[in-house]
Amino acid sequence: MARKKIIAGNWKMNMTPSQAVELINTLKPLVANDEVDVLLCVPAIDIIPAMEAAKGSNIMIGAENMYFEEKGAFTGEISPAMLDDAGVKYVIIGHSERREYFAETDETVNKKVLKAFEHGITPIICCGETLTQREQGVTIDFIRQQIKIAFLNVTAAQAATAVIAYEPIWAIGTGKVATTEQAQEVCKAIRECIAEIYDDATAAAIRIQYGGSVSASSAPELFAQADIDGGLVGGASLKADFGQIVNYK
Ligand code: PEP
Repeated sequence: MARKKIIAGNWKMNMTPSQAVELINTLKPLVANDEVDVLLCVPAIDIIPAMEAAKGSNIMIGAENMYFEEKGAFTGEISPAMLDDAGVKYVIIGHSERREYFAETDETVNKKVLKAFEHGITPIICCGETLTQREQGVTIDFIRQQIKIAFLNVTAAQAATAVIAYEPIWAIGTGKVATTEQAQEVCKAIRECIAEIYDDATAAAIRIQYGGSVSASSAPELFAQADIDGGLVGGASLKADFGQIVNYK
């Protein structure tokens, strides 16, 4: 069965609620393409107004992060139940910026992944190597390790519905996009790793995105690769270019 591409924006810490509504109104006609899943992961405070603004369109609204506890004394955090109640179906987990600035680890990523599934929210699980790791030739080993920990205790049925975002850290926000060959090689290795953990059917079902300076010009070749099922898009999701990326064909 062919996998439906999923093209997701990651707004990071950009867009106030009123700016979010304005941008969604601009993007709505530009991304009206039912052949792909279109998702915008937005700051927590923007989720509800963004959902309102996206009503009647094909844009889904997701979250950029969530905590792994149900509720309680965790000032400043957002719970999976809060996201679920707001209608959120996707959440980015373990983005490299969360790992770098907010001390997230493979273990906390795993806890969040399990919690997201418990609440019926699909995690977009981020992985990716540093430039040093790439230069040392340890990229695939490192990413396999990230994947194995992220999926601990995740069932095959859950894993089949997950999204993995391969995002080489050196390509995020730098304008340095990975070559098509580099991106396909790692996404293929991730799929093989999923087949080893689970089975071929799970590996064939899971969607794997590439992320890292995706643009309207790089998207067509990247998304045409056998193991790349769309993209996680940062900077370009904040402008009309996102429409061109969604309509990459
Ligand atoms: C990201 O935020 O996940 C990302 C890939 O950013 P950019 O597209 O700006 O590199």
